[in-house]
Amino acid sequence: MPIEISGPSPPPPKPRGLAIGIDLGTTNSVAARTDGRHQPMVIGGPRGALIPSVVAYVNGEIRVGADAYAAAALHPSDTIVSVKRFMGRGLEDVRGELAHLPYQFNPGSGGVIRFRAGGREVTPVEVSAAILKSIKDMVEQREGQPVEDVVITVPAYFDDAQRQATRDAGRLAGMNVLRLLNEPTAAALAFGINRDRDGVIAVYDLGGGTFDISLLRLAGGVFEVLSTGGDSHLGGDDFDRALLDLALQKAGASVGDLNPARLRAALSAARKAKEELSAASSVTLTLHLPGGQRQTDVTREELEQAIRPLIERTLQACRQALRDAGIKKTEVLEVLLVGGSTRSPLVKQMVAGFFGRQPHDEVDPDLAVALGAAIQADTLTRGREDVLLLDVCPLSLGLETMGGVVEKVIHRNSRLPAGARQTFTTYADNQTGMDFHVLQGERETAAACRSLGRFKLSGIPPLPAGMARVEVTFLLDADGILLVTARETSTGKEAGIEVKPSWGLTDEEVERMLQESMDHAEGDFTERLIREARVEGERILAALDRALREDRALLAPGEAERIQAVADRLGQAIAGDSQRAIRDLIEELDRVSAPFAQRRMNRSISQALEGRRADQIVRQMG
Ligand code: ADP
Ligand code: MG
Repeated sequence: MPIEISGPSPPPPKPRGLAIGIDLGTTNSVAARTDGRHQPMVIGGPRGALIPSVVAYVNGEIRVGADAYAAAALHPSDTIVSVKRFMGRGLEDVRGELAHLPYQFNPGSGGVIRFRAGGREVTPVEVSAAILKSIKDMVEQREGQPVEDVVITVPAYFDDAQRQATRDAGRLAGMNVLRLLNEPTAAALAFGINRDRDGVIAVYDLGGGTFDISLLRLAGGVFEVLSTGGDSHLGGDDFDRALLDLALQKAGASVGDLNPARLRAALSAARKAKEELSAASSVTLTLHLPGGQRQTDVTREELEQAIRPLIERTLQACRQALRDAGIKKTEVLEVLLVGGSTRSPLVKQMVAGFFGRQPHDEVDPDLAVALGAAIQADTLTRGREDVLLLDVCPLSLGLETMGGVVEKVIHRNSRLPAGARQTFTTYADNQTGMDFHVLQGERETAAACRSLGRFKLSGIPPLPAGMARVEVTFLLDADGILLVTARETSTGKEAGIEVKPSWGLTDEEVERMLQESMDHAEGDFTERLIREARVEGERILAALDRALREDRALLAPGEAERIQAVADRLGQAIAGDSQRAIRDLIEELDRVSAPFAQRRMNRSISQALEGRRADQIVRQMG
């Protein structure tokens, strides 16, 4: 019987900060969160959700995103772009890469990369942390809530050092990194790939400077990376250059005619023109050449002709990844398009042609990874408040009763705090003490449950069996502490213990105990019935024994022997394993002793009536 629990209500849960997802991209970074209905949405700064992954160290200030991007043309060597390429890498790994960049770096200190920018030295982790910190600030300002936890995405091919560097950057930015999530897996989450299905999913991710193809196997709701491939120097930036070359050629110029600042500006213009050509069939590009300003028209067809060989290279990488995984194209269940460059119609078309199926493009390709990270952050923190507020009792709590059977008092999955009370009685005549054995588990027998503790209640007044009333109360508080008290109602005598049922129990053990109870459910049930029948049989035999001794005078000749014969058979059945046999003999014993019981009853009534006045009796009976 559940009881109402009074007393102080549990303290309100500590308000937790937001848990967000961040796609820390080579070109752009994106932050996302989930709403109250667990739906993901990106968080946009004043200039939109895409934050250029650029950090500028100018005039003693750190600028991030669009501001830094703007500064890049003026301060190329103090502006760090594509820092993701250097995360967790040693100087030796990236020497070739660095040669093409305008940064100065410190080749000293044990192979660690240090950029010299704006008169200071910064590591890739610090630069990434600056991006993450700026995103954190933006989110906090827009959402009016502190950011506490984050899921950051990384390419599937990132090794341990690269992952650790990313984790460090997150921590340096003042966030608790819940998990690093593979970008293709994040994309699959955002596309709502049905986790009930099993199969291979290809994630085609063409960003600004990198191309990644990942083959994931989805089995039992878990994503496994089968193979990854791609080209770390192939992406939308190459499309920009191809388009610029095209335009310059038409204008009778070449890249060599542009100084670095003009080249940067021209590449920006080319990028804008390329993006427009995903929707329009032709654009006009304005070029600032040494001879003056020139306007050039470029058509989509021309651009497509120029980028076709680049896209062909991505398909070559797809072929290789399939080979590596030992997967045939026809075995691929779904193809997902990720990365801003997959907005180019030709990319979609060629990917569809290659895989022989329409790829998914329903989710914004440059937001998908961040949306998936937010979904993951939500999953990892969901129920965290629930755990504080609505923690449940994972395994039932109860007492051992006669015959080694378990009487559950607080049932599994009861919400905390939980309380329940049950009344027990004495088993034997003049029993003055009672032993209590507190148990945890779903099994029906005490031996199969976990023992939490024992205590004894003494000082019960001597009474016939079944007459004393002992109330046992179980209280499981919000901290999971169990208080068991037993109280004899007539005297108020009390005893009890306090235990922590969850102490030393791991989730796996809870799991195992539940599994065992399911495995043994049927056997346990039968065992419980037998034990209960035995207890009842023994109780009846004890009562009969007492009656035969006390009321010998009420017995007819030969009656005692007839009753005793059945009682002996019941005693044998109790020693056996058949619940049916015990029940049948209890009934038979009832029948054969019924006349004797009737005589005893009549005698008690007449004794009770003795000494009372007749009119009282009449009134009572009337
Ligand atoms: P990353 O993952 O490398 O950070 P993104 O996924 O954000 O990069 O992709 C950036 C690239 O997507 C840039 O080259 C950008 O020009 C390109 N892009 C964005 N929008 C379009 C569009 N509408 N058409 C073609 N390319 C686009
Ligand atoms: Mg990306």
